[in-house]
Amino acid sequence: MLTVQTITAFEDNYIWLIRHPDQPQVVIVDPGDATPVIAAITAQSLKPVAILITHHHWDHVGGIEDLLARWPMPVYGPARETIPHISQPLAKGDHVHIEALAADFQVLHVPGHTAGHVAYYHPASDVDKHGMIFVGDTLFAGGCGRLFEGTPAQMHHSLSQIAALPDDTRIYCAHEYTADNLTFARIAEPDNLTLQARQQTVQQQREQGQATVPSLLGDEKATNPFLRCEQAEIIRAAEGFSGRKLHTSDEVFATVRYWKDTLD
Ligand SMILES: [Zn+2]
Repeated sequence: MLTVQTITAFEDNYIWLIRHPDQPQVVIVDPGDATPVIAAITAQSLKPVAILITHHHWDHVGGIEDLLARWPMPVYGPARETIPHISQPLAKGDHVHIEALAADFQVLHVPGHTAGHVAYYHPASDVDKHGMIFVGDTLFAGGCGRLFEGTPAQMHHSLSQIAALPDDTRIYCAHEYTADNLTFARIAEPDNLTLQARQQTVQQQREQGQATVPSLLGDEKATNPFLRCEQAEIIRAAEGFSGRKLHTSDEVFATVRYWKDTLD
């Protein structure tokens, strides 16, 4: 059974270690900083076997060089982005097979935050009850990434691909932004009772210093405004903000993303 260990980095980044609990081999996801990763690996006598990269931003790739200097290993990442040390460039539809973990990840192309952004999906199986997906800065708990290199329509399509996965899929995003995201979600959808309850839970988790990631896709679909652009309440709220009729869910998404940008 695969487990995922959380490493905190910088202000609010998460780096993920994927492994089997009884084995030392470990896959590292988005090591923006090598220092906390090296500390976690050496403290547990782990053996890194691969690095997975979702996109080119420094807080996701900054630790690759120092990790490779200690532990030479393959580095998987998007073929469409310029990232030093990528040895296994990936395109949509590729699979990453990690022999040492006997694990297979499907590569999704999810542009929007950056042009070549990929996500890594490990489906549920007989041994792994929940699927898991490593989404970088595409889908956040309660929100979504900013559109630095893509259009709203691209990001909306990327999020729709993720939303089509099973509801019990665990979403591993790369930042602890949940509390802020839910503050905006409440503005967009004040009468959503599931959202109100989630906000209370997240507030308690943060007060106790707990991570709110991973989240479950089903909870995101019930509370994350960026996955709810076909819901009447979100459409009404987006039309209220823009002051005009919105005709497609892409337009609703673009409006909600712009609305949040104006408040950040
Ligand atoms: Zn980023």
